[in-house]
Amino acid sequence: MADFTGKNVMITGASRGIGFALAEAFAKAGANLALCATREEALKEAAGKLAGYGVKIYTKALNITCADSCEEFVQNTIKELGSLDVLVNNAGITKDNLTVRMNEQEWDDVISVNLKGTFLMSKAALKVMFKKRSGNIVNISSVVGEMGNPGQVNYVASKAGIIGLTKTLAKEFGGRNVRVNAVAPGFVQTSMTDALPEEVKAKALGAIALKRFATAQDIAKAVLFLASDDASYITGHVLAVNGGLYM
Ligand code: NAP
Repeated sequence: MADFTGKNVMITGASRGIGFALAEAFAKAGANLALCATREEALKEAAGKLAGYGVKIYTKALNITCADSCEEFVQNTIKELGSLDVLVNNAGITKDNLTVRMNEQEWDDVISVNLKGTFLMSKAALKVMFKKRSGNIVNISSVVGEMGNPGQVNYVASKAGIIGLTKTLAKEFGGRNVRVNAVAPGFVQTSMTDALPEEVKAKALGAIALKRFATAQDIAKAVLFLASDDASYITGHVLAVNGGLYM
């Protein structure tokens, strides 16, 4: 596992699921953390679980759909931790429905958190990374953003949008030594997938070459790789971590 000692890593949606696993993996690798989610108590609880790693942890409850909150979070991270080296845009939501039943609110909410939130947080972080001529962003997309998925037109569009955003930022900021990549997880065991109907889960399992769902730690390993110097010549890449669900 790569060493992140002294690096400052910002993770959105870090209170649970994949985001918490990311925070734990980066803390184990020595990184200081700036963590956000919307709910303060869950965030504090998560930070408490990470206290034993002896790294600095700054937490802030905020909504990533608000540009001012994203800017403020980045500025306060610099004050609290000293600088910013890595941003992982992980926060995301689902509001599933078949297209003809999906209302505008469900569309807007998911696009707003998943895609606009990723844009706003990236923009705030990139202002800092651009100036210091180094930085690293990893965006969490999804296998469904690559293959489509009935009942998730809003979510799929947001995750496909993240792939386009990733490639564009990689091209815009590569000259400033900022790498921007995405990880596209398949089915991961979290509260997001726990909520799926049993028949959907069984069908998915049948289509996965490795015949198991991913753990959040499987995803974290891929994110740490892309954020590390081991991936020094990789940018604009979408790394599939889907157990062979989609090739
Ligand atoms: P999760 O368990 O539902 O956690 C989502 C996290 O995002 C929570 O910490 C939540 O905090 C935060 N969040 C939600 N809306 C936010 C907002 N507006 N502003 C700030 N934080 C917000 O999700 P997960 O399953 O770990 O998924 C994490 C990421 O992986 C998502 O982008 C998801 O789309 C992607 N993904 C997941 C899977 C899977 O199978 N689970 C597969 C592919 C991709 P609060 O509760 O405090 O709001």
